[in-house]
Amino acid sequence: MRIQTEEKVTIKAVYDTDLNSLLEKLGMMEDMKNGKIKCSFCDCMLSVDNFGGIFNEKGHLKPFCKKTECYLEVLKRKNAFK
Ligand SMILES: [Zn+2]
Repeated sequence: MRIQTEEKVTIKAVYDTDLNSLLEKLGMMEDMKNGKIKCSFCDCMLSVDNFGGIFNEKGHLKPFCKKTECYLEVLKRKNAFK
């Protein structure tokens, strides 16, 4: 089954119940478990505990962590693309 993530995932604040299904849809669940996914801004390793969400930048899905400064970066970018 193919899922068109590029169109659907613009910015998602992800909360506990959504997180697993979103990561599985994106095929990122394994990487997350293996510690292979990093925050796009501060470069910290993302886990279920500090995962903030994913945003779409020019068709690239970028995960970010829960830190306030990273979240603000996402918001800045989101505004920039409008
Ligand atoms: Zn971060």
